[in-house]
Formats: sequence, C-alpha cells, structure tokens
Amino acid sequence: MKNIYSNIFSFNKKTLKKSVAILKSGNVLGLPTETVYGLAGNAYSKKSVNKIYKIKKRPKFNPLIVHYFKSQAAKKDVIFNENFLKLYKKFCPGPITFILKKNKKTKIKSSVTAGLDTVAIRFPKHRIVRAILKKINFPLAMPSANLSMGISPVSASDVADEFKKNIKVILNGGKSKIGIESTVIDLTSDPKILRPGIIGKETISKVLKISLAKKNLKIKSPGMLKKHYSPGIPILLNQKTYDKRYAFITIGHKYKDNKNCFNLSKKSDLKEAASNLYKTFRKIKKKGFKKIYVVKIPNKGPGIAINDRLKKAAN
Ligand code: AMP
Ligand code: MG
Repeated sequence: MKNIYSNIFSFNKKTLKKSVAILKSGNVLGLPTETVYGLAGNAYSKKSVNKIYKIKKRPKFNPLIVHYFKSQAAKKDVIFNENFLKLYKKFCPGPITFILKKNKKTKIKSSVTAGLDTVAIRFPKHRIVRAILKKINFPLAMPSANLSMGISPVSASDVADEFKKNIKVILNGGKSKIGIESTVIDLTSDPKILRPGIIGKETISKVLKISLAKKNLKIKSPGMLKKHYSPGIPILLNQKTYDKRYAFITIGHKYKDNKNCFNLSKKSDLKEAASNLYKTFRKIKKKGFKKIYVVKIPNKGPGIAINDRLKKAAN
C-alpha cells in the first residue's frame, strides 16, 4: 500500500537513529506498542513532557505511564516490592502497567505523575519500542497517541489522522496486536486493578491476590475519567436489534453481515474482539454514521476490558 502520509516512516537503522535523536533533543514521536500506539517523549525532560500534554490536549491532572526496557532501569525511579517482582517475572515485557511509590531520587518530572507520589511504569513488548528503549538512557513518558478522551490509535495512520501536522515522525509497526490499553494495577497497597486489560483478574490471581478497584477512584487514578475512548457520537449498549440508519457492532454468528453491521469476532473470540474494537469505531466514524448500537458483550475474560471501554465511550 502506498504511504500517503509524509510523517509515517518504516523502521530501519536510519529511522531508529533519527528517532533516538528526536527523543534526545526533547521532542516527541509516535511509536507502535503491542497495546496501542503511543506519543513518546523523555520522561526526564520538562520540554518533552509539556509537548505531550499540549499535543494531546490532555488535562494536566491525568498522569502519564513511564516505559522502560527492563526493571533494572526503573529502580532509580520507583520503589519495588514483592508483588511487583512477581508480576514482572510473569508478564513482562507485556501489556501491564504497575503503580508504585516514587523513589525520592527520581529524575521523572512531576508533571509526568501529575504531582502524585506514585509512578505508573510499563515494559512494552513491541520490538520497535524496545529497540528504541535499548538505545536511550532515559525512560519514555508515553500516553496513547490520540487527542484526549478520543479513541486510542491502533495503526500509524490512526496517529497521523489524530495529530495531522502536529507530529513529525510516526514509526510504522503495523496494527497493534492487542488493540486496547494495558491493564493498570495499583501495587502501593493491596493489589487492585484500576483499568482492566487483556491480562485479566483471573490470570493475575494465579500469581497474587487481587481485586478490581471500586468506582470513584479519584485519588488513586485521577486520569480514569468516566468519559474516555470516545468516538464522539452516541453509543447505545446491550442492544438486541438496531435502527437501520445507524451502525451496529456485533459479535458471533447471530447477526448477518450488511453495511450497518460491524462484527468484532465471528468466532466470538473476545481477545480478537478487543483487538478490533477501536479499529471498528474509526471505521464507523469514517463512514459517517451518527450513532452506534452495540450488542451485549459477554462480561468475562477480555470481555471485561471491552465492556469497560464501551461504557466509557458511551458516557
Ligand atoms: P493512557 O496514558 O491513556 O494509557 O492512560 C494511562 C492511565 O494510567 C490513566 O488512566 C492514568 O490515570 C493512569 N495513571 C498514570 N499514572 C498514574 C499514577 N501515578 N497513579 C494512578 N494512575 C495513574
Ligand atoms: Mg489514552
């Protein structure tokens, strides 16, 4: 396919070098990860961090996740504990984010953590972001590469569509395999899931005792806004039928294919459905539909993360 975007680059030695130079100079770029695409900058640089908030139009009270190549590099920024080490061993690199107490000696800018005394850290798996992390001696502050409250991008062109000319370089790493954001887990006291993801409660329970956080987590996670992940048009959840004027998101075999129906997974595979969710939102928007109906999605496994995003998108 011809690349119609002048700011999307394929990954090679030359663009790796260029990307590292951009980050070192306090600028930002779009990077693929296995969850969604990120807008990356140096977490130790005020200039970088300010750019991230500005380009995303992200409210300053919503802290950013800080990304590392491996745990060793995070040691000077956060205080490890036993639960972290257990989960790190089992799931990293991978789609899981840990909230830990900030190390007093950290160089992470306070704007990254919105002034909190905790830091959210992650070890992404995608080979491109890992290649970059390996070449730099600072961690990457990297929220999803979309305008605040909108749909997370799952391809390089999604990022280009979000930011237009406000972003000079986006590395193309193909479609994000997981397609929804990481599981966020608070490890500063009894482990709690703040944002469900593909690594679910059941899977984590095999390693340690964990609960799903109650609603209204104002202090713990200021950024967990009620409205989020939104395609900007009304969404009706748990629908059995739909109005023919509007789009209908389905799963499984029950509903026939037609121009209104968008199937997340014909074989009702919830992991596949999660990976198709944001792509489907964008497709529906591009086609100009004014409303989205969504069938009931089973609330188990990856379905829990899908329903979390749907609920926020519908808010
Ligand atoms: P995003 O960058 O869009 O993937 O979202 C990151 C999520 O992690 C947001 O919901 C933030 O509120 C949350 N987060 C980041 N840092 C912290 C922190 N120190 N404490 C609690 N939640 C955090
Ligand atoms: Mg986001």
